[in-house]
Amino acid sequence: MSIGPDAETTMKIGEPALLSRADPSASQFRRQVLAGFAVYLTAAAAAWWAILNLAPDHITVKAFGHAYAASDIRHRLLTRGLELAVIIPGVFIIDLALAGWRDSSLYRLLVLRTPSTMSDLAAFLLWRSRIWNTMILILSLGISLLSGAYLHNWIKQHAGVSLSLAWMSIPAQCVAFFAIYSFLDYWTHRVDHSRHFWPLHRFHHAAEDFCVFTAVRVHPAVFTSVIITTIPAGLLQVSPAALIDVNLFVMALRFVIHSRINSNFGWVGRYLLQSPVHHRLHHILDMTQPVGHFSLVPLWDRMFGTWRGEADQSLVIGVDTPYQHGAWLAPDLFRDYFDFWKGLWPFRSRPAAVLEHFQAKWIPVRVKKMR
Ligand SMILES: [Zn+2]
Ligand SMILES: [Zn+2]
Repeated sequence: MSIGPDAETTMKIGEPALLSRADPSASQFRRQVLAGFAVYLTAAAAAWWAILNLAPDHITVKAFGHAYAASDIRHRLLTRGLELAVIIPGVFIIDLALAGWRDSSLYRLLVLRTPSTMSDLAAFLLWRSRIWNTMILILSLGISLLSGAYLHNWIKQHAGVSLSLAWMSIPAQCVAFFAIYSFLDYWTHRVDHSRHFWPLHRFHHAAEDFCVFTAVRVHPAVFTSVIITTIPAGLLQVSPAALIDVNLFVMALRFVIHSRINSNFGWVGRYLLQSPVHHRLHHILDMTQPVGHFSLVPLWDRMFGTWRGEADQSLVIGVDTPYQHGAWLAPDLFRDYFDFWKGLWPFRSRPAAVLEHFQAKWIPVRVKKMR
């Protein structure tokens, strides 16, 4: 299967980029977009100051004979505001400035509106909706309720050891927790590519081209975020401030690596933080080679032998399983969920096969994309 640029890719992506890097109008466009964003950030900073200094932190409203109270308002506004008003628009704007209008994520969302991009948009709306956590809870059969704090107390009671990062400063906790998070994320991502878990992760890889929102095109039955965030955070007593900082940073990085920014980030992308181009190689449609680039931190890939070297923006991405795509996600989500349980079915009558699979094949996990 071809992995280079071809007519089909051009057709999917649309017209060639209006602005190339060599074009002087491209740098002028980039400067204008970034200057506009700088003005926007100044306004956002003013709003931040206003919330911190002027907004009430606690409100009680009396209506219909009842008192309705809301607390911790400033903190909630700032966290949600940072995510929705700074991080997400920021990645879209940088993507627009660096990729040019005709090759940007915004162009895909607003003009091309391909079925795959509409799935990305629907996945984003679902992810931001109130039913998302409930869907994870139901589809993962309650696994998302597992508590790291309970584990912490259990170890403390039975082994007399209190695992904790709380003695560190907030910046040190952020670095330590991100290192732990990225290590666990690397291994759970490899498990996602194993034969039995692939049907759930396949939905993410089904995107036919990158758009910033591809980052949150995730099947709601994927419960690995519980293992890599909730449990270690509770187990290690990570402070809420550090947890929020790392979550926001990881969210921003995930949006960036699914953007259309044509960059390998130089030495940073080779060792510290994954680049959009390297993540494109992870999503490659060609299934004849083992998949690599699992981690947000390339050092883990290098350490465990899954670093696959350099990549480029022209690689064709996707899976060869047919997807309906479009804004109505239900058929694709249900088919993948059914495939997941169908794949586990033979194990129900052969417990020894479970043992054999996890003993002999779990490490190294199969890293080829499954069909
Ligand atoms: Zn993957
Ligand atoms: Zn991805």
